Amino acid sequence: MANLSADLATVEYNLGVVRERVAEACARSGRAPESVRICVATKYVEPDAMAVLRDAGVTIAAENRLQDMIAKQERFGDDFEWHFIGAIQSKKIREIAGRVSMIHSLATESARDKLANLEPPVPSLLVQVNVSGEESKQGVAPEELAAFIAATPHPVSGLMTMPPLTDDPEGARAYFARLKQLADEQGLNELSMGTSQDFAVAVEEGATLIRVGSVLFSDPNK
Ligand SMILES: *Cc1c(COP(=O)(O)O)cnc(C)c1O
Repeated sequence: MANLSADLATVEYNLGVVRERVAEACARSGRAPESVRICVATKYVEPDAMAVLRDAGVTIAAENRLQDMIAKQERFGDDFEWHFIGAIQSKKIREIAGRVSMIHSLATESARDKLANLEPPVPSLLVQVNVSGEESKQGVAPEELAAFIAATPHPVSGLMTMPPLTDDPEGARAYFARLKQLADEQGLNELSMGTSQDFAVAVEEGATLIRVGSVLFSDPNK
């Protein structure tokens, strides 16, 4: 990505803005600000820059790629709570599960079935749902969700989604509301939804985890 700057002042400032906007969205929707956890997508940064994220006050590191996560954990493993948010190759899921406290992106039967007989502690599991039905998107179809959860060999804590890209954050609202409805139907509490462009809308619709990346690294003066 162009114009990314992972310097401490920038990340600290932007993280403060994100926290404020989360608190405002919580106030608008009658929620407690502590009910939303901010996960930072670390795919944009080299392992070195994890020190900046730590010093800026980031607590949850959310990675997309196992190899990159391993490199970051070698040096900064104790500095963060680690989550996995990327596409999962089923043959890698047991290694991923051993390295994180939450997997947001459980999306295929083959990966799910390889979770059997894991050594505890088993991470919290979120099922990624393809709410929009776009063919390019990862995720379980809404109508297959109940059966998918029933066949998961460990408890499922919640759901995650990536809405279609739009320029207008309001464009994502209906998808977030639908994910919340699906979670309620399944009796699930955790909702991972909202990225840099639409996290405030996601919080209004019930997100308990937001996943933000680019907003933290952009120059606040532009
Ligand atoms: C990169 C990524 C994010 C963060 O997106 P931004 O637009 O940079 O905030 C969130 N979720 C997933 C799954 C990602 O890959």
